Amino acid sequence: MALEDYRTDMEACCRCSVCKFIPMEQVKSYDFAYGCPSIARYNFHAYSGGGRLAIGIALLDKELEYSRGLLDIVYNCQMCGACDVSCKYAMDMDVFEPISEMRIACVERGLTLPVFEKMIASLRQNGNLVPPAGAGGKRWFDDLEVKDYTREKVEVIFHAGCRLGGDRSLWEAGRMALALLKKAGVDVGIAAGEKCCGGRAHYLGYREEFLKQAEQNVKQFARAGATVLVTGCAECYQAFRVLYDRYGFTPGLEVLHISEYLLRLVREGRLRPYRELNMKVTYHDPCYLGRLGEPWVHWEGKLKPGQIRLFDPPREFRRGSYGVYQPPRELLMGIPGITLAEMERNREYAWCCGAGGGVKESNPDFALWTARERLKEARLTGADVLVTACPGCLRNFRDALAGQPLRVNDITELVAGACL
Ligand code: SF4
Ligand code: SF4
Repeated sequence: MALEDYRTDMEACCRCSVCKFIPMEQVKSYDFAYGCPSIARYNFHAYSGGGRLAIGIALLDKELEYSRGLLDIVYNCQMCGACDVSCKYAMDMDVFEPISEMRIACVERGLTLPVFEKMIASLRQNGNLVPPAGAGGKRWFDDLEVKDYTREKVEVIFHAGCRLGGDRSLWEAGRMALALLKKAGVDVGIAAGEKCCGGRAHYLGYREEFLKQAEQNVKQFARAGATVLVTGCAECYQAFRVLYDRYGFTPGLEVLHISEYLLRLVREGRLRPYRELNMKVTYHDPCYLGRLGEPWVHWEGKLKPGQIRLFDPPREFRRGSYGVYQPPRELLMGIPGITLAEMERNREYAWCCGAGGGVKESNPDFALWTARERLKEARLTGADVLVTACPGCLRNFRDALAGQPLRVNDITELVAGACL
């Protein structure tokens, strides 16, 4: 696909601004009515989903040139997909995909940010956006006994992802995930030289780099002979489950998020949450596990001649309702002593943590501002703990906490507290 392929979607935009907010019927208070962090922060139409579509049309029609000035708008967007869900509440048109294509078109013209070039240089050099080792060359799994699936056969592959591998403060979540899988007797393995899924590269606009990573990973998975691929990272999950399928890469195994797999183990009686954790928690839906984790829809067709928006065959849209929402909630509610309180914006209407789309790297202030908005919403539930299911969210929330009386944990840390 290319930006041109979304022309009719972009032309369908009526500038109603619904994409700036969560759908009206879902709004519970004025304070948490926004859905798009970019417009909420910068308050100028160009920084909204609809504004970006107007820019897309202007680029196609050569009324606007690709320029460095454009990058401020293109990259101050978390690629969170909230605009897409809100727009599709009433409309049948894609918003997220043309925004993504605009990034790809910029990169193809050599327009990008130095911080992303550095990450991509690392990806080309060592297969990861950030080097996977911490200080002294130590890696997150070094003192754990775990199989390397590139050397011996395993049933289940655990993929940590480069957000976790490259950030020592997040290692505990990966270590706890492995400990839980081993306690349940799962024949699990990792790759000592694990390669990035490529998903973040795709959403930064580097489609070619994504394709290279996908090709390598699929070959490596096939050699392992595993039946299940589990990851604790929402962005890796989305890449393996959605992007690989979209581009025709078939990993040949079942792709599950760690919350889905742990719930399966609990249901099978292989893991038992026996310890009471007396706490009230609220759950943050990571964008790439929730609305953007919805399976890809392989629609192929064409516009009916003479019609503005009629397709043959009828076009199907992803609306974000079929992401992974229930498994993490069920897992949490199965822990004795835990009560779950929902934030005002939840499931496909969840507010982003702020770290996505390269914003954490290119505009850390914006990333932290976005996280603080979410922390405000979490605190109003009266929860002791904000639980997330992605290392990217975990890191950004913890960075934004600044002494607030709220704990932030990855879901595996709580399950480990109850089961190990
Ligand atoms: S993208 Fe959709 S919701 Fe946003 S202004 Fe355009 S039509 Fe309205
Ligand atoms: S992807 Fe997220 S940040 Fe970007 S325009 Fe849409 S809602 Fe706003």
